This record gives sequence, C-alpha cells and structure tokens, in this order.
Amino acid sequence: MTTFTRRNLLSVAAGAAAATTMPLSRPVRAATPPAGKQAAGWYRYKIGSIEVTVATDGVSRFKMAEDHVTNIKKDVVNAALAEVFMEKDMMTTPYNPIAINTGSKLAVIDTGTGESSYKKSNGTAGQFVTNLASAGVDRNAVDVVIISHYHGDHLNGLLMDDNSLTSPNAEFVVPAVEHQFWMDDGEMSRAPKGRIEGNFKNVRRVFNSEVLKRVKTYEWGKEVIPGVTAQGTPGHTPGHTSFVIASGSDAVYVQSDVTHVPFLFVRHPDWHAFYDQDGGTAEATRRKVYDMLVADRMRVQGFHYPFPSLAHVEKYGSGYREIPVIWNPAI
Ligand SMILES: [Zn+2]
Repeated sequence: MTTFTRRNLLSVAAGAAAATTMPLSRPVRAATPPAGKQAAGWYRYKIGSIEVTVATDGVSRFKMAEDHVTNIKKDVVNAALAEVFMEKDMMTTPYNPIAINTGSKLAVIDTGTGESSYKKSNGTAGQFVTNLASAGVDRNAVDVVIISHYHGDHLNGLLMDDNSLTSPNAEFVVPAVEHQFWMDDGEMSRAPKGRIEGNFKNVRRVFNSEVLKRVKTYEWGKEVIPGVTAQGTPGHTPGHTSFVIASGSDAVYVQSDVTHVPFLFVRHPDWHAFYDQDGGTAEATRRKVYDMLVADRMRVQGFHYPFPSLAHVEKYGSGYREIPVIWNPAI
C-alpha cells in the first residue's frame, strides 16, 4: 500500500519532471511566462442595502521587538505564532481599509499607510487607492473619509505622495476626542519621547492647512453618516473609535484596532501590544466588544485581520477565536 509522505510526493514530482524531458509527439507550445505579481486585492459584500468594498492597503512584515507584547515574554508570543503556522520572531501586519456605498454617500473608513509608503515598502503596502480603483471606486468620487484614530496606518493615506489630497472632493470626519488629544500642544509637550512624540508630529504633518479646512469632528454614540454609528472604544488611543454599519436587519462591526492581528490579540485579549497607548483600558474595551460580538453573533470587519478581514468570532479558551467568512462569488 502506498503511504502518503512528503518524500513519496517529492519522488513522484521528480518522476514527472523526468517525463517532461521525453520527446513529445505533439508540436511544442510556447510556455506561458509566470505573472510574477499578485492580483488586485479587493472584496465586496453587502450589509442590507449598503455595499462594502474592502480594498487592501497591503501587508508589512518586520522583525518583532522583544517588547512587542509588553506584558508577555517573547517565547510565549513565538509559541502563539507557531500555533498558527507563522514564522518565529516575525510580525505580519495586514492593513485593510474599506469603502462603503450607502446609496446616497460614498465613504471610506480609514486610509491605509498612504501612497508614499508604496515605494518605501517595495510595493507591499500603500496599495489602497490602486486596489480601490481596480474595484471601480474612484478616489475623486469619495464624499466622506471617516477616520477611526490617529495612527499613521489609518491616517497617512489622506495624502498622496506629493502631499495633494487623495480624496479632493471629500469631507474628512474625525473623532472629536481623538482630534482634541493629538492637536493639543500641552499633550504633545508632555508626551514620552520616541513613538508617541513621533505620532504627534505625524498627525501635525498630515493635518496640513488643506486637510484641516475639510475636517469635521463627530461624537461617539451618534451616526457619522446615515447607517454608520460611531462607538467609543478607547485604549489603543484616547479617542479610538469603532463603527456599527447597519442596514435593514443586518449589521457589521468595524472594530478598527480594538484588537491588532487576530491570531495573537483576539485569542489573547489580555496581551498588551506596545501600540496600545493604555493597555489596561484597551484590554477592557476588547473584552466588552468581543463579548458583545459573540452574544450578538455579529460579523466583524477588522483593519488588521487577514484580507478580506471579515469574520465571525466565538469564545475560545480564555479569549476568543476568529472564523473568516467564506468567499462569496456574488454579492
Ligand atoms: Zn492600526
């Protein structure tokens, strides 16, 4: 009886390779060259009558710092990566903003790392507007850009590489609490040197006079545009915001960065990533949101979930687990 082993399979493959060197009786066709690049990354689904287009901004991969998870030893984090077949010491971070068409408004929620990061990352990030265009969504037609919080991977895409506006005909709606915090010079002067100070500087770079002219703040607990309600989910940043998109009897929770990558932080809600500004508050928020998602059986759209970043969640161990939705050939 033939057993399935990796070695058997490889020897079959070697035999097949040898067979192709035999003379062919039919005329030889030109070989099709490999495409050598990925297909456009977008996915579409509906929430009631609202159409959602997830257009990926790409992925970044980098070596994890010792304190990437501030309250957990790196070998424990590596064991969690091994559990999901991911490489040790390496962090893989997807970025997935969305566009929503409510019928009356074309809106974008978060903007990705920006066109300028396309070159810097050798094309692995900064893809949002090109993927959006591939999906037939013109950045010039966007009416509203909704921002969840003021980290560069959500904000920098407000500007193109030449600092012109990515969506020149849009209004930019931002969380009042977040705007107040990051634009406050007193908060900036008290900020710890390094990453937080750098974020204050980046916020001021992106919010140039052209951007500021179009900024409008929104409040938690209210509709940002019809069908999209803002919910305060602080901790990751002081004004961090999530959204419920609802239409008819259907709803999806856009969690922004309530958790970072699900394979670490949905499964381990008590782990504090270094980019959670207030780890304790972020953890409490995470548990509240995920308990609600489980109880309501509500789908979640997660910015740092693997593309297309739409999933169900369930309780798992002392945390939760994401179950990606199945790809739908029609919408
Ligand atoms: Zn983020």
